Amino acid sequence: MKFIKKFDNYVTAIFVITIIVIVATSYFTFKEFFSASHQKQQEVVMPLFSLINSEIIRPLTVSQYMASDIFLLEYIEQEEIDRDVIFDYITSVSNQFNTMSFIAIDKHLLLINSNNETTNLSTKEAEWYHRLKNIDKTEFTDFGNAEDPHLFFDVKMFNKQQEFLGFIGLAIDLDHFAKKFAKFKQDYGFELYFVDKNNDVTLSSEQIMQTESHHRKDVVTNINELPWYQHYQSEYQSNGDNNHSFFDYSSSNLIISKMPLKELNWEVFIIAPPVTEQSVYWQLFMQNLIILLVVSLALYCLFTLCIKNFRSDLVKDSETDYLTQLPNRSFIHWKYSQLNEKHTYVSVVIADIDNFKALNDTHGHLFGDEVLKIIAKKLSENLRSIDLVGRWGGEEFILILPDIKAKQAQEIANRIRLDIEKIPFKASSVSEEFNITVSFGISEGNLRGIPLEEALAKADKALYHAKTNGRNQVSIHTD
Ligand code: GH3
Ligand code: MG
Ligand code: MG
Repeated sequence: MKFIKKFDNYVTAIFVITIIVIVATSYFTFKEFFSASHQKQQEVVMPLFSLINSEIIRPLTVSQYMASDIFLLEYIEQEEIDRDVIFDYITSVSNQFNTMSFIAIDKHLLLINSNNETTNLSTKEAEWYHRLKNIDKTEFTDFGNAEDPHLFFDVKMFNKQQEFLGFIGLAIDLDHFAKKFAKFKQDYGFELYFVDKNNDVTLSSEQIMQTESHHRKDVVTNINELPWYQHYQSEYQSNGDNNHSFFDYSSSNLIISKMPLKELNWEVFIIAPPVTEQSVYWQLFMQNLIILLVVSLALYCLFTLCIKNFRSDLVKDSETDYLTQLPNRSFIHWKYSQLNEKHTYVSVVIADIDNFKALNDTHGHLFGDEVLKIIAKKLSENLRSIDLVGRWGGEEFILILPDIKAKQAQEIANRIRLDIEKIPFKASSVSEEFNITVSFGISEGNLRGIPLEEALAKADKALYHAKTNGRNQVSIHTD
């Protein structure tokens, strides 16, 4: 009963620990999962805004600023203009922002850029000028210079009467964008696509930006051609949610965010490549799996240890006499049956306390119990490890001595008998100390031939002889 309760406690403890571990690991998994994805978003949003601002919005703002410069506008309206003055102006802007700048003056049909190149606007090279001039818009982004492609930020200039004066702006080498976006991709693992209102990819972190492999003017990539976009479109249509200007959702492991770039009437697609995402989640998964495995292993070890302890306690309990802590009758039986594997010969000794009933009657059962314990201890002393002593029942004990002849057993029993005889007992009911004696009966025999019951019956006969012969003596059975 004691051990059943102990086992219940172990099971409860294991259960509580398991619950705590499951709750804790789930909590940490979710916490890490959310903080990792949150952190990733945080990490990428600020640099992305800063990149868009410095590389796209700023050149546009600078171009707008130049187009509203009153001194410049008044100057280019004059009949006579000094080409060098214009060149100095655009060069100073160009140096300041480390990019190419240009001005196209309608009145003089003159295009000047900061590379000190001059073009007549009526020539074929200035095709863009006439194309954009006739469009009812003031700001444009346009790709030009097939040999050395640039993104041109073209802003129309007007005088106070709102008469068209020409274009002014900055032009940025596409290689410059390619480098910036490649760096962004390298740092954050995100792919960027800038798309104009025709769904043509204007800028991108992908290979299509590479100027040497791509003639921007002739081979423009439409975003509809890209597989991820087709996937995105099909999911997008099924979701039908077009209200959000910035939203995320997963499609085939990609996380695609769309952001409008109102200044240019563009859209920016930000794509987290699957490898990046998967590696983060995979890492998280592995970490938690390892924790789970370690915890499960620890729990398993704990559990088996408990079971082992419990089982050995239970077995010990079932084999032990509670009062004397000696092996009980069933264990003696089992042990005797095992002996013939290693031994052939055995002596069986029965020890019976003399006049124990009278002792109990005189001094009480509790005192009798104490006597049983003391004598049990004495019987166990000075025996070999292969010998066995057990409580057979009542005030009777058994000694099983393998490979010992009766004569030798007699010596052993006598030694014990004399030891017991010398023990001074003191009961509360009487003032004087007294002694207690034990009688012994011995039988010997071949282990293979004689079952325990038979050996005991013979030893019992010898014991009877010792008792009738005056007690406190050792008697050997003789046929
Ligand atoms: P003998 O010398 O002939 O062996 O006489 P005896 O009185 O020892 O033998 P008997 O068989 O008449 O009495 C044995 C007594 O042992 C009877 C019983 O009350 C007592 N006894 C048996 N088991 C226990 C026990 O666990 N504790 C106590 N205190 N007494 C017990
Ligand atoms: Mg007896
Ligand atoms: Mg007795």
